[in-house]
Amino acid sequence: MGFFMKSALITGITGQDGAYLTDFLLKKGYKVYGIYRRNSTPNFWRLHALKVLDKISLIPADMTDMTSLLEAVTVANPDEIYNLAAQSYVGASFDQPIVTAQVDGIGPLMLLEIIRSLNRPIRFYQASTSELYGEARKLNQQQDEESEFRPTSPYATAKLYAFHLMRIYREAYGIFACNGILFNHESPLRGLEFVTRKITNSVARIKLGFQKKLYLGNMDAKRDWGYAPDYVEAMWLILQQKRPDDYVISTNETHSVREFVEETFRVAGIKNWEKYVETSETLKRPHEVPYLLGNNSKSRSVLGWEPKTRFKELVKKMYDADYSRWKKFQKGEQFPWDAFNYIEDIDILKRSERKPWD
Ligand code: NDP
Ligand code: GDP
Repeated sequence: MGFFMKSALITGITGQDGAYLTDFLLKKGYKVYGIYRRNSTPNFWRLHALKVLDKISLIPADMTDMTSLLEAVTVANPDEIYNLAAQSYVGASFDQPIVTAQVDGIGPLMLLEIIRSLNRPIRFYQASTSELYGEARKLNQQQDEESEFRPTSPYATAKLYAFHLMRIYREAYGIFACNGILFNHESPLRGLEFVTRKITNSVARIKLGFQKKLYLGNMDAKRDWGYAPDYVEAMWLILQQKRPDDYVISTNETHSVREFVEETFRVAGIKNWEKYVETSETLKRPHEVPYLLGNNSKSRSVLGWEPKTRFKELVKKMYDADYSRWKKFQKGEQFPWDAFNYIEDIDILKRSERKPWD
């Protein structure tokens, strides 16, 4: 190990952002550690896809298990911790609100307590989210670091708890703890349950004849969608500043789910997209965030960061990747375990549909 080599510990390394951040930090010359939790089936496909699995050190730990987190921080002895681990799906947080609170709220607190008690100058990045804004009272306005937070899900509420802890621990104990308030960011490595990847994966399957219809919930919701590899650079920049602070990371452009659908069908060269898309009440959420649009002025001026990938390019990258996965499958070259639409193919009862007292 080089004398000046920095080391980073990434929680959530097996997720979308964890994989891209790993690649980014390795290219910067970091020694990268990550925690992973024991699953019955290993979940290393993203790290494998980016060819970084053999360049990192993995430590088994769980965000709900303080002892394992302490062990991970002690073993890695990192200069920087990127806390990306989360139950990250808003929809699931309505089904599992308590585990969401434990992983997304208490988990970051445990890491802060570990840093405080070890008394090491570890810089801490917390994956905060535009979901904090929730149902803004001021309609259709850009959201920045000063905007009001009005969460509308158990996910956002747990993340809000962690958000405030960063500020409190830096003011109370001088810990270098920062929030990146990241607006939605997507990529070919996005989980299939999120709407963008569900759309690009389904349209690729429709194009190749594997699927007939795409079922969606609220198509009027608007999101400020960016490209994940652009966003992990911002995470790193946030920890390289003189002072700890909070930053909005966004593209400053918003599009509806409907626009995402239209653009994906356009890229696929399929006309009359309405023929293939149906909305379903069961895919609507009990409570919705209707409109997200960021204002990244602070990160542009202080971090010198700006998004490189725009909406149309993002859609194309995601569609092309899904199309190529399914094309390989069609040719018998590869099973698309990274594109398999299992969520859609399985009958998963939503909370609102389960009424044991009936
Ligand atoms: P993913 O869902 O792709 O990844 C989540 C990661 O957290 C996975 O590695 C998962 O592990 C891990 N994890 C979940 N529960 C635990 C646990 N109990 N113990 C240890 N690890 C756990 O999320 P993204 O990469 O998209 O997002 C990264 C972070 O950024 C998350 O905190 C998310 O909430 C936040 N965020 C994301 C945005 C986005 O648009 N992507 C927007 C704003 C914030 P496993 O593989 O085992 O499931
Ligand atoms: P979120 O912004 O973190 O909740 O990211 P998602 O990708 O899960 O959802 C983005 C928006 O798409 C939300 O407003 C959802 O209600 C809406 N949406 C509409 N149909 C669907 C669907 O079938 N799946 C998901 N995940 N979201 C959908």
